[in-house]
Amino acid sequence: MKVCKFGGSSMASSDTIKRVADIIKSDEKRKYVVVSAPGKRFTKDIKITDSLLNCYAESKKGKKVEELFKPIRDRFTEIAEGLGVDKQLDLNSVFASIEEGIKLSSAPDFAAAQGERLSAMILAAYLGYTFIDAKEVIRFSDNGVFNAEYTNDVAQKLLSGIDTGVVIPGFYGSTSTGRIVTFSRGGSDVTGAIIARAVKAELYENWTDVNGFLTADPRIVNNPKQIPELSYRELRELSYMGANVLHPESIFPVRKANIPINIKNTFDPENPGTLILPGVIQHDRLITGIAGKKGFVSILIEKSMMNNEIGFTRKLLSVLENLNMSFEHLPSGIDTMTLILADTEIGNKMQELVGGIREAVSPDRLEIQSDLALIATVGHGMAYKPGTASRLFTALSRVGVNIKMIDQGSSELNIIVAVKGDDYEKAINAIYEEFIN
Ligand code: ASP
Repeated sequence: MKVCKFGGSSMASSDTIKRVADIIKSDEKRKYVVVSAPGKRFTKDIKITDSLLNCYAESKKGKKVEELFKPIRDRFTEIAEGLGVDKQLDLNSVFASIEEGIKLSSAPDFAAAQGERLSAMILAAYLGYTFIDAKEVIRFSDNGVFNAEYTNDVAQKLLSGIDTGVVIPGFYGSTSTGRIVTFSRGGSDVTGAIIARAVKAELYENWTDVNGFLTADPRIVNNPKQIPELSYRELRELSYMGANVLHPESIFPVRKANIPINIKNTFDPENPGTLILPGVIQHDRLITGIAGKKGFVSILIEKSMMNNEIGFTRKLLSVLENLNMSFEHLPSGIDTMTLILADTEIGNKMQELVGGIREAVSPDRLEIQSDLALIATVGHGMAYKPGTASRLFTALSRVGVNIKMIDQGSSELNIIVAVKGDDYEKAINAIYEEFIN
């Protein structure tokens, strides 16, 4: 059995949904389907999830929900009419209950989830599959943490009792009291992976609008090559570092059950896409892909005799813990330590962070550098191959890029460098030219 998840661009209109249905019908193993809310039909279009979040936010400022919801209602009506399922679905009463729910809710999750819910109802009706609401299968604890094992048991029991195909909305679930909770944005990928684990699928197909993972960001590198296959661990590294074809958390449920993931393109279904497999894949390529992100800050902390000060790192990291901040890297020297953090983690708490560090470890010197980018060069192929780091650094020096930080764990799965934000594109191109082109 296969679980297929279709993303927002696949669910954007009745025409694209017809393609989705053709894909599902062309393989009888495609029995479990997870869907996103309708995404963009053209560049300047608005994703339904964004409209719903806006609807919630504006309604809490006093605007009328009915008016805010009107474009969403119209878009779903158009889709249902285009597929000829408008008569069998009593959409007007569903819309009315959503408007009511938005008025009553005190968090955006309920509103945000409705795009997936409607999308799944419509596709289920069109395919003649059973609609299962995600709130019945995906469980969060009262404080909003996803409860993986409970969900797995419930989903297994519920889904094994259904003989027809099933369509489940992605992105959300509920607490034991029925409160709707969403995953982070793009979270339908996670739902698909959870369902794949629950039904012990042979394959998790993730249908999107690109031919799988590329070896580098196509907005930076001209026409980068496609990656035919990669391992879970390579995927984790690449997607964490910004290759955003798949939600980074979707890996965990399928990894537990050793289920391969196939990224496929709804608009080019014959293309094999990218296959993501458990274990280390043996092949002769050195580098699998390059990914990166801008928007990091480094904080250099210098103190003489730091190496002898017992508990120094613990004191430093407890400052972050108290501020509820996570860090990316912590390279250290004898008397220095550098914290690399994302801007988004620091938010407007830089003063508090610096004050906390000064108080906790009394450094001799503290230096902040903002506007950094991190670049990860990823691939199992580099392990035990002398010269990879040297080639990478030479490639960067050739184009005059200065490296601010280097990090390579002993797994040798990746080499991460920090460079100035302005050098980011140049650096990625240089690494691509060296290893991939
Ligand atoms: N619709 C949600 C979003 O736009 C979730 C998803 O598509 O996976 O983030």
